[in-house]
Amino acid sequence: MRRKIVAGNWKMNNDLAQTELLITNLIKQLPSTDAGVMIAPTFPNLYKAFEALRENKIEVIAQNMHFAESGAYTGEVSAAMLKSVGIKTVILGHSERRAYFGEDDAILAKKVDAALKNDMTAMFCFGEELDDRKAGNHFSVVENQLKNALFHLNAEAWKNIILAYEPVWAIGTGETATPEQAQEMHEFVRKTIVEKYGQNVADNVSILYGGSVKPDNAKEIFSKPDVDGGLIGGASLKAEDFVEIIKAI
Ligand code: PGA
Repeated sequence: MRRKIVAGNWKMNNDLAQTELLITNLIKQLPSTDAGVMIAPTFPNLYKAFEALRENKIEVIAQNMHFAESGAYTGEVSAAMLKSVGIKTVILGHSERRAYFGEDDAILAKKVDAALKNDMTAMFCFGEELDDRKAGNHFSVVENQLKNALFHLNAEAWKNIILAYEPVWAIGTGETATPEQAQEMHEFVRKTIVEKYGQNVADNVSILYGGSVKPDNAKEIFSKPDVDGGLIGGASLKAEDFVEIIKAI
């Protein structure tokens, strides 16, 4: 059955010293848990983080990568490079990548392929904007994001996919989707996967919720049957908060 996961997306925060300090504090405070615990530091600090957590159950993951294998792509990082420093999971399609760096479904389909081809796990983010929700289009927007970037995959490939539903209007805004809104969308996503791939694939894929998850709302969100954990931004930058959220799973 699917894994429970709590992942911290550090975004463009924490220099080397801050990365080391936060990891030291996390190691000290990490509760024992069956859930997968992941952190995504910035590129320059990935290897240091990986080394610091080599003997620990916290997995270090990347926030992004390029789809090309190598070559003239100034400023970019490939799957093989990530793997060479111990990284096996990569966040793809975060709404900030979509909004500020022009990543669309077609690019993301290529990135997902590149990750899987390199035996990595892709944590694929998707979610509607506020206008979509106000117009009642949130289900169709999400359905299209999934279909366009992931539905070319075969069923086997889904073993290496983690989904993260992140309604854009809830990211970094302090406005969380209600547990009911999260459950409603996660249930819809699972149903959409059932229709394409069957119950088995759908039952085995972890669907995380992201968007202003905090220690005081995590438990209720995680209690919903189709919510398998969270992708945590702001609250993953403080060890105490992140640990409280891990305890809630
Ligand atoms: P937030 O970010 O928890 O700060 O809202 C979540 C995310 O962007 O992954």
